[in-house]
Amino acid sequence: MRPTGTRRRSPSAAPRHEIRKYEAQRQANKSTYWVIFELIWRDFFRFFALKHGNRIFFEGGTSGTPLAWNPDPELWKRWRDGTTGLPLVDANMRELAATGFMSNRGRQNVASYLVLDLGVDWRRGADYFESLLLDYDVTSNWGNWVAAAGLTGGRVNHFNITKQSKDYDAAGDYVRAWCPELRNVPAAKVHEPWTMSREEQERAGCRIGQDYPAPVPASRLGRPHSSGAGGGGGRTSSGRPQSRFGGGGDGRGGRGGRGGGGGGRRQSEFERYQ
Ligand SMILES: Cc1cc2nc3c(=O)[nH]c(=O)nc-3n(C[C@H](O)[C@H](O)[C@H](O)COP(=O)(O)OP(=O)(O)OC[C@H]3O[C@@H](n4cnc5c(N)ncnc54)[C@H](O)[C@@H]3O)c2cc1C
Repeated sequence: MRPTGTRRRSPSAAPRHEIRKYEAQRQANKSTYWVIFELIWRDFFRFFALKHGNRIFFEGGTSGTPLAWNPDPELWKRWRDGTTGLPLVDANMRELAATGFMSNRGRQNVASYLVLDLGVDWRRGADYFESLLLDYDVTSNWGNWVAAAGLTGGRVNHFNITKQSKDYDAAGDYVRAWCPELRNVPAAKVHEPWTMSREEQERAGCRIGQDYPAPVPASRLGRPHSSGAGGGGGRTSSGRPQSRFGGGGDGRGGRGGRGGGGGGRRQSEFERYQ
């Protein structure tokens, strides 16, 4: 089950000239245009890594922006386990854990949520993806993550998760497939189940806070803020007040536990470059 507008392809994408051949022989359409467009992104991140070298793994990204992260371990855990209370994030994280795959739309959304809403160190997300993605690729993964974290000096894409869910999974089929707790929640509420009244929760067999998690309260959300002198305006938009985090993020802490049980888990770039 995949959200509308996302495609699944084998990890090795067809070379561009094959697509051009197909276009010449059969037809050029929106799909052929987009596959070529996406392949340009892949190539972009290869060149990006060649240019910036190891800096694609650095905490402050290629822009070297010094940031303080939210050290609350609960937030990381909820993201990793797909229990944030935001159906689109949870469905994608559960799909990743179960299959080793997540659509590009999903990756963009969960990365934005981890870094720009929860304020967790982006490298923990990149590291986690690395350990699970079947199509893991150093430059695509770390390049996309550092860009999603807004640490390349370019535009910062801060996604409105609920709007994205409604746009790409209007009927809620995707979120219901991965979050069976939402099975009987009507489409009008499935992307924001916390807005159900008590009666609606009873009717849907989905009590918020019991059967399905309540969303992380706004008071615990927050975006990373500049940790050093200077920097300052590195983060953009959204108007959400910046929370005060407790200083340098631990970055490494939560990883130990998960790695311990896996047996044969790949060593990540993050670990290699630490
Ligand atoms: C945070 C994050 C981490 C990612 N990590 C990886 C990774 O480890 N390995 C990986 O191959 N891709 C990665 N991507 C890129 C992209 O999500 C996947 O390539 C895509 O989801 C694969 O699905 P598909 O084959 O259906 O791609 P389609 O959407 O059909 O695109 C066709 C091909 O274009 C390329 N492509 C598409 N989008 C991107 C992109 N944003 N960056 C680079 N190449 C792209 C891929 O080679 C893909 O197979 C990541 C994206 C994000 C946002």
